[in-house]
Amino acid sequence: MRIERIETLAYQAPIDQPFGFSQWWFTKRSALLVRVVTDDGTEGWGEVFAHVEPTVYGAVIGKALAPVYMGANPLDAGVLWDRAYNRSRPYGQKGMIINALSGIDIALWDLNGKILGQPVSQLLGGRRRERIESYATGLYRTETDDLPGALAAEARGYAEQGFTAMKLKIGYGFDIDMENLRAVRAAIGPSIRLALDANHGYDVPDAVRLGRAAAEYDILWYEEPVVAEDKAGYAEVRARQPIPVAGGEEEFTRYGFRDLFEARGVDLAQPDLGGMGGLSEARIVATMASAFGVRCQPHVWGTPVALAASLHFLSWLPDVPGSATPTQPMLEYDRSLHPIRDSVAVAPEKSLPWVDVPDGPGLGVEMRLDAAEQYLVDRTVITAADVRAAASTRE
Ligand code: CA
Repeated sequence: MRIERIETLAYQAPIDQPFGFSQWWFTKRSALLVRVVTDDGTEGWGEVFAHVEPTVYGAVIGKALAPVYMGANPLDAGVLWDRAYNRSRPYGQKGMIINALSGIDIALWDLNGKILGQPVSQLLGGRRRERIESYATGLYRTETDDLPGALAAEARGYAEQGFTAMKLKIGYGFDIDMENLRAVRAAIGPSIRLALDANHGYDVPDAVRLGRAAAEYDILWYEEPVVAEDKAGYAEVRARQPIPVAGGEEEFTRYGFRDLFEARGVDLAQPDLGGMGGLSEARIVATMASAFGVRCQPHVWGTPVALAASLHFLSWLPDVPGSATPTQPMLEYDRSLHPIRDSVAVAPEKSLPWVDVPDGPGLGVEMRLDAAEQYLVDRTVITAADVRAAASTRE
């Protein structure tokens, strides 16, 4: 069996209400799906965590990565990952090349699960969990004169839907953050767990000050307090304030996470499977995290394809520490506006806060491309003939 075709499908959708975080406002949502098709017509789906204009990934995948994958046996996913990384090392150790590689890798795991008739979690090493407790990601900035009031109402809504944990965006400055935090904690009461996410809106002194003051509101974790490049800064924030520190959604491959773990920068690692290297690399990072005594749970902000890949990964994740009742990893369940997520594929089964791990072959996602057709802005199809024609190097 050989890989015969690779497609990238780029989507963009306007949203009714813009929402913001500590860096910018969103007025559209984007998604980038990857379809890998073999010579017998079997297809696998992957997703890239597309931070920016998603159409660029057609060129990145077509020009930089497809030559490695085209014509290859999809069951060689790990071998191909190594080859793709080595080929792009001079220009691709972090950023868009690794994002693109992640999408192809996830598609190969889906494909291989279908070829072998097994769910991806089984191929990763086994299903420790059949369902995962989720937390609501939302509580962004919105265009309102009363942000604390709007956040309190949104938080109460998540609790009414059945969520037992949620995450509040911070990083707007100490006074605004504390006012929002007080309002949300008062709205949800003491029993609902609450995490904070600064999206690296702070430097070390401000992050420490906020963490010390926020701790009395019983905070589950403190996410991305400072920029990903400042691993010593992460360690300093972790040492100088009492809330467990989380991060990793802007980190890449085993090499980036190695540096973060060696710096003792995080209590909780959050690899994004569609950004940091795919399921092949996330399995390595999770294994490494267990050796450092660091918890791991994926960052997720995509369609049901990214959600399913993360559910299979969460099903397999090792317990840290190995014990009878270790703290269990949670699923990040994005509740912000995302018309593509809500139309392009069937959402996983859920009974909130629990979300079932799919048990069909591969990722177990049912695609509904027709329902999202209106949001498709680019479809790039790469064939073996394209790759041969464009080739400038060979093994
Ligand atoms: Ca985050």
